[in-house]
Amino acid sequence: MRLHVTLTVVLACHLLSCLPVAGKQLPFAAQTSTSPTSHSIKVAIIGGGASGSSAAYWLSKAQEKLDFLGRSSEGVDIHVYERDSVGGRARVIYPYDDPQRYESVELGASIFADVNRNMVRFAKDFDLPTDAKLDEDGSITAIWDGQQFVIEDLSDGWWSSTKLFWRYGYSPVTTRSVVNDLKKAFMQLYSPRWMHERKAASNETQSGFPWSTIGALSRSLKLDEAAASDAHSWFYGKGVSQLFVEEIIEAATRVNYGQNTDSIHGLGGGVSLAASGAAGIRGGNYRLFQELLVRSNARLHLAEHGEVTGVVRFANFAEADAPKWWVGTAAGTGGLYDAVLVATPWHNAGITLMNTEAVIPVDKYVHLHVTLLATNASHPKAKYFGRTEGSDVPTSILTTYEAVRRAGQKRERDGDGGDGEEDEPVSPSRSWRSLLSRNVRQAAAMKSPTLDFNSLSYLAKLPPRRPSSSQEHLVKIFSPSRLSDEQLDELFGLERIGWTYRQEWDAYPELRPRRSDGEDGGDFAAVEPDEGLFYLNAMEPLVSTMETSTVSSRNAVALLLSKWYGQEFVVGSRCSWREEADDDDDAKEGWDGWGCQAA
Ligand SMILES: Cc1cc2nc3c(=O)[nH]c(=O)nc-3n(C[C@H](O)[C@H](O)[C@H](O)COP(=O)(O)OP(=O)(O)OC[C@H]3O[C@@H](n4cnc5c(N)ncnc54)[C@H](O)[C@@H]3O)c2cc1C
Repeated sequence: MRLHVTLTVVLACHLLSCLPVAGKQLPFAAQTSTSPTSHSIKVAIIGGGASGSSAAYWLSKAQEKLDFLGRSSEGVDIHVYERDSVGGRARVIYPYDDPQRYESVELGASIFADVNRNMVRFAKDFDLPTDAKLDEDGSITAIWDGQQFVIEDLSDGWWSSTKLFWRYGYSPVTTRSVVNDLKKAFMQLYSPRWMHERKAASNETQSGFPWSTIGALSRSLKLDEAAASDAHSWFYGKGVSQLFVEEIIEAATRVNYGQNTDSIHGLGGGVSLAASGAAGIRGGNYRLFQELLVRSNARLHLAEHGEVTGVVRFANFAEADAPKWWVGTAAGTGGLYDAVLVATPWHNAGITLMNTEAVIPVDKYVHLHVTLLATNASHPKAKYFGRTEGSDVPTSILTTYEAVRRAGQKRERDGDGGDGEEDEPVSPSRSWRSLLSRNVRQAAAMKSPTLDFNSLSYLAKLPPRRPSSSQEHLVKIFSPSRLSDEQLDELFGLERIGWTYRQEWDAYPELRPRRSDGEDGGDFAAVEPDEGLFYLNAMEPLVSTMETSTVSSRNAVALLLSKWYGQEFVVGSRCSWREEADDDDDAKEGWDGWGCQAA
């Protein structure tokens, strides 16, 4: 039996080009620093971002509980594989690449909201400062449609401004109540009672936690309806005016998810609007994920030793009931595990799955360009926005696609939608009317609205580079394609830009409407595609945030632990419920552990 397994490993290794080479060890021997007892479980986590680092932390809390129960001989041996840097899509850089002079700026995930309880509690428990600078003092927020600013001053927020009332009537109020209902539904995740209470005469929880499908999670939280329809129809169906959806809600979905309200689902729309109490970790959100890893005591494999290239299943390993999983890296190292948690979007993980029928479906991600720059222009050029030179321009600009959409529809109606008419020679026999109408259409097309970016924000005033330097501002722009130097010139004037940094991301999944029904959990990837193999990013197409990554990882770890140590280990037994906890209670009760009061 063992010989068969070893041969299969070598064969798998060969196919994954990880055979030992001079100076390298066989994969089995390569990475075993600890020697877990026979009762230990050994878990590999692929990815050190929000999902992977929090998974490691939740797993380490199982070790704490085992110790507390006097079962220290059982252990959880945690290995995290990271090919790039801890934090994943939470990554910072420094203006002018100068960390001595400048504070870091987020290239990816920058904020979490007050409803993001795990992030807030982690930051508090780990003593991490949450006062990262999110925008320049006094910046005015406006919404640009490619032709004009439809709203000039949103600085009071999405719904509190009186100006909004004049334009949209009660829609802001209705939207706030819809978003509050979504928040309330989501917040059930942090109520130990809601999560853990049992069904009568059953071992199962009423909530269904831990959920084996994302569809079940979404149904249980009653988020399925919002996830099943596009944001436009969903908010409209709730009594929000079309104008408010097209302008305000779309501005939020475009800055948060690079998607318009007719393609993103209603839940994505709601999450985009739920950023109250926004905060970020000073120095970078990645610090929080680093801290989770440190506190988890996980063994971290980095660079080519951390780049997983293959995962192979071994059924009935050494007569055990459960399969084992071999994880191999680009360095030719690897290890054998009882469970593997894939904590990265599958489409660009570059991992070959072998010896299993499991398929992890590939989701389409929004490809986003982030441009960071330092400029001494105190606002973008007025001319770019069709204003006379010298006029003021807002410094926090969101966008709505509505004017572009309408112009496209009009062109289609008018028959200019690529039918070749533009190139057609003008016949002298054509009437002056048709010529005039064509000229009018051409002129309209020339003026047709265009959107070069999804959002543009002045983030901070930068300290001067030299005593005589003029004041510089740090600006962040999100756009669907690369912003060329010509475009930056039109926006600020190249001579006024001192530093530019461009980054491309597969930022978040396309949050298109998805079904949550059915045994298979609807249109989401399986949480456990094969026994002992978990996919943490299965939840991302429902909501993609740092917080929900920690929620998803907690659920997957709960599934794993309930299999290994029983459901009671995870959700407790004979619990007496405390009422809704405040933050101090959290600290006392060990909210992040396993058992009655954890959630
Ligand atoms: C521009 C941008 C802005 C965003 N803004 C926000 C925001 O303001 N607030 C918010 O909450 N969320 C935001 N998000 C979304 C947020 O970043 C993600 O939802 C979250 O970080 C996902 O975490 P993750 O751990 O699942 O994935 P990731 O952060 O992508 O981590 C996956 C990790 O796996 C590693 N990896 C991949 N393949 C392998 C392999 N084969 N072997 C080893 N390691 C591998 C990667 O290097 C990476 O470190 C934003 C994202 C982007 C890109």
